[in-house]
Amino acid sequence: MLRPVGDRLRTGRDALKAARRVVVKIGTNALTNATGRFHRPHFEGLAGELLSLAEGRQLIVVSSGAIALGVERLGLKDKPKDMPGKQACAAVGQSRLMRAWEEALQPRVVAQVLLTHSDVQDRRRYLNARHALERLIDEGVVPVINENDTVSVDEIKFGDNDTLAGLVAGLVSADALVILSDVDGLYDADPRKHPGAKWISEVHEVTRAMLAAAGGAGSQVGTGGMATKLKSAARVTELGIRCVIAKGHAPGTLGRVFAGEAVGTLFEPRSTRLDARRAWIAHALKPKGTLVVDAGARDAVRQRNKSLLPSGIQRVEGSFALGDPVDLTDASGEVFARGLAAYGAEELKKLAGKKTSQIEAALGYRGLDEAVHKDDLALLD
Ligand code: GLU
Repeated sequence: MLRPVGDRLRTGRDALKAARRVVVKIGTNALTNATGRFHRPHFEGLAGELLSLAEGRQLIVVSSGAIALGVERLGLKDKPKDMPGKQACAAVGQSRLMRAWEEALQPRVVAQVLLTHSDVQDRRRYLNARHALERLIDEGVVPVINENDTVSVDEIKFGDNDTLAGLVAGLVSADALVILSDVDGLYDADPRKHPGAKWISEVHEVTRAMLAAAGGAGSQVGTGGMATKLKSAARVTELGIRCVIAKGHAPGTLGRVFAGEAVGTLFEPRSTRLDARRAWIAHALKPKGTLVVDAGARDAVRQRNKSLLPSGIQRVEGSFALGDPVDLTDASGEVFARGLAAYGAEELKKLAGKKTSQIEAALGYRGLDEAVHKDDLALLD
């Protein structure tokens, strides 16, 4: 599976032009009018922009709006405050939300993906979700993701789609995350209360003072406020992902963001995307098995930053499942890398030494091309 990545040499707004894999979070506010009702002209305008964005890029949408649409369909005056009430509204509204996306994003194929917090907390489920999303993206499908509100109760909730979108951007190793909302970015004070508040074009570090100034939830209809958006921006920039917070109601915003114009607030990445992840793999995980690989595969991984393919594996030791950490050694027994296995030990035994074209016949299903993906590999000194 080859994944185009953004040009890492560019920085700032310029780098957004080269972003290939993009997550766009659309808040309830960007889909509704001032009274919290679904606003079809906004929605269709946004969908048109998403369609243009998806040309030549891989697009993942994180869409709120299920609860708001459910409230409307059930004829309620306000969003319920109790959990079962919100869950019921989400259940009613989610299918309407998807129908709206399905129609508005034609001719693209869309897929509904509903996640709960436990799907990304558990390493195995995290990788399963990632594999499924990769396949959808490979097939040219636009995943439309929301929290699985109907089964999410407080303890297992993301709580708001800003947080969910940040986790999704990390999950798919996006080049950029755009959070669309009802404000055109970050200000040095709340612009609703302080008319003289100054707009901030670029942020290189999300500070405690910024978080404190951002305060709590913003509005009646949505769940997050500037604080959850800032936290998400802080999280993804730590992972090396660029983030923009911009106004969803302003027509043409997405196109302008990806043309590198000074629209919305840009949060610059704080590390290379993989550094944090690789440090965790190298230092925090105990290996459950070992893959002994040939010299060609060792050099490809060690010197050319490649994924480990089944063809390079000579022997599989230990018992491990998909997502478990494994050591990579060469024939001399020297451990040179650690990574997360994309298959369990039993499958890898069947695949050892096999070419990519033989994977399907060996397993009886079309699996991944990699035994350990390069994003899941940390080199050891
Ligand atoms: N998942 C909720 C919904 O679709 C939205 C959460 C949020 O507003 O951030 O209605």
